[in-house]
Order: sequence, then structure tokens, then C-alpha cells
Amino acid sequence: MILIKNAIILPLDENTFIKKGDIIIKDSKIQYVGRSIEWKEEFEETIDASDCIVMPGFVNSHTHLAMTLMRGIWDDIPLDLWLNNYIFPVEKMLTEEDVYFGSLLAIIESIRTGTTTITDFYYYPEVVVKAIRESGMRANISFAFSSRRGFNKIILKKAESFVKKFDNMENGRILASLALHSPYTSTPALYAQSARIANKLNVIVQTHLHETLKEVEDYKGKYGKSPIEKLDEEGFFEARVTAAHCVWLTDAEIEILKEHHTGVVLNPKSNLKLGSGIPDVAKLLKSGLNLSIGTDGASSNNNLSVLEDMRLAMLIAKGKTRDPSSIDAFTAMRLATVNGALNLGFKDVGLLKEGYKADMVIIDTKKVNLVSIENPYSQIAYSMYPEDIDTVIIDGRIIMRDGKILTIDEDFVKSRFIESYKRLLKI
Ligand SMILES: [Zn+2]
Repeated sequence: MILIKNAIILPLDENTFIKKGDIIIKDSKIQYVGRSIEWKEEFEETIDASDCIVMPGFVNSHTHLAMTLMRGIWDDIPLDLWLNNYIFPVEKMLTEEDVYFGSLLAIIESIRTGTTTITDFYYYPEVVVKAIRESGMRANISFAFSSRRGFNKIILKKAESFVKKFDNMENGRILASLALHSPYTSTPALYAQSARIANKLNVIVQTHLHETLKEVEDYKGKYGKSPIEKLDEEGFFEARVTAAHCVWLTDAEIEILKEHHTGVVLNPKSNLKLGSGIPDVAKLLKSGLNLSIGTDGASSNNNLSVLEDMRLAMLIAKGKTRDPSSIDAFTAMRLATVNGALNLGFKDVGLLKEGYKADMVIIDTKKVNLVSIENPYSQIAYSMYPEDIDTVIIDGRIIMRDGKILTIDEDFVKSRFIESYKRLLKI
């Protein structure tokens, strides 16, 4: 058992906080959250969290881990050209080893910036499972695909066997899912078949949806309907869908997503950087959809801090509506934690609550930007730097302590990552 004592605790189930509280972790779960008391029990580990904030770890509900390998190379290019002329050709050369070290680098950055649950939507998912297992992170790892003439049946078979093999591993710390790249790379029939398989296996399906106006207009030209309208007709939303982006939505399309309890992941930094548009955060929030935060890949963000994207989502909502009350710090922090967990299929993750999984971060408030600790929600949402995270606990295990990651040899990963990066980009 681990005791964390004397902490400022933000459980996130209600808009309140505990000024001086304790948390007890037993195995992978939270056994106690409440005010500080004298404990008679023996603990294997006691962490004195005086002057520290403890909150649930961040959840990154849309990203492509190994895209760290393409970070900082091609900026200032719109999505379609960026994908077709730059990203897709390099992705054809990726090896399993590249993806393994690219993913580990992303995992290191994520742990350092307080992410405890992540997803992956990329190639070679088996090696990503290996990287996640070794790191101790919680993750939903998808088998990603798009249409290939004559191969759709084989791809779906492979996806199904991946999910059967890897879903619900490591005591539920690892889930598996299907991920269709997008309506512009996959046929409506493949979407319909994927939904049926996902429902049969009881897993989520991830996809990119309505990211750019051009993609929506091109699709209308081809099918006479928007991607959401067409996929609705195909029964795709009967599955548990988690859709990334959703920048360009009509009210009727929001209704379709709402009716089917589709999860929506905001990726504001990637949308802004690629010039795709500005998601209507306040409207989506008001609609009652389960909204969460994703960073997208490191090549379109270009970092993996959920905190940064959460903050950007808040500021966009306020700026676009010209109403600073359109989202508050507590709500935003729920988007970046418990809502993300739900969008990735984790039902007992993202709150500091008895019986929930013990995933949390400890933040030292002695940092210069955090010393005035009157309202910890405000401090986190508006003033904290991602690197203010001191300690990270996932599934009841200390993964980072005082800024040192205990599960990964960072220098080794960095050196192998650079080898892959140089080979791929012919540097
Ligand atoms: Zn993406």
C-alpha cells in the first residue's frame, strides 16, 4: 500500500478540493481519498505531498505515437498536401523498430507532462503494445487501417485478431480498438463492416472526422452527403465511435453524433497549426457530447502536452463566443481526464475516487508560477507548465518520481530514436 499525505487534492468528481488530504493506494486502485488523519497501518511507501497538488493524470484521447519521427520537419503545409506529399511517403519506409523507439519517445514525453492514459492510432500496433507494457502506462491501442482495393477482407480479419489478442491485457491496463483513418481514405462499406466487428468484440472504433472543410466538400461532391450523414446511413455510429477533430459540423450533424453517444476528441493545436479551422468548443460542450482532449501526432502539434491542448480549447471557447464564462477550469480539466478515459473505453479511470484506478500526478506548488495557491483549479488550468509535474503514478505504480522516469532508460531510447530519425529522413 502507498500513502500520499498532506496534499491539496483535486478529485474532479465535484468542483471542490480537499485542502489537506490523504490518498491510500492498494494494488492498482484508490482505497481512500479524504482529509488527513493519523494512520496506524504500515505502508510500503509514504509520500509527503505537503505543498503539492494531487490530481488525476491527463488522458490523451487522440494521438499517433511514433509520429515523433516526423516532428519539426514539414511545418506550414495544409493537411492534404502534408499527408500525401510528405507524411505518407515516409510512413511507407517505417520498420517495426522505428515505430517502437518512436513510440517510446512519445511515451517518455507524455509521462513527463503528466499523461497517464494514452491511445495510439498508427502502424505496427504489436510493438506499441510492447512499448506500453514496458513503460507502465495505461493505453487503448488501436489497429489502424484504411481501404485497400482487394484487401479489405484481409485487413478486417487482421484487425479482429489483433483486438482478440490484446484487448483487456495487464489487468485491464491495456485495451484494444479499431481505427479507420478517415472517410477520404476508407469506403462507406469498410466503415459499416468495421462497426459490426467493433460491436461484436465490444470495443471502440476511432476515426478522423470532419477535420477540414475541403474534405467535407470533396466528400459531398462524391457521395452527395457529408461524411457524417453518409456514415450514419451506413450504420457506422451504431458502434462505440470516438471521433477526432470534428471541426466542421452542422447542427444536424451534431445531433447525429449526440443521438449515438459518439465521443468527440478536440485537437485544437493541430487544427490551428495545419490551418484546418477552429473547433466550436463552446457549442460542442453545450450539446452534451462527451468531449475530450487529444494532441494529435507530434508532427502536427508539435508536442504531446494534453495540458497545452486543454488550455487552448478553453481559450478558443472564450474567444469565439466572446464569453469568458463559456468554460471554467474544472470543466476543462474533466475534458482532459475522465472524459478522455470514457472516450477510450476506460470506465473507472480519470477521477480520484475510492474504487477508481490509481492514476494520478503530483505537482509541486513551490514553483514560481504556482506559489500563490488560492485556487488550485485556476493554477492548473491557466498557470501550470507541463513540466511542473513531479511524480506520476499509474495503476498504483510509481512511474516517475521527482522528475525521474523509473521504467524506461531515456538516454538509450533517445539514441536509438535518433538513428531511426536520421535514416528515415536521410539526414
Ligand atoms: Zn490524428
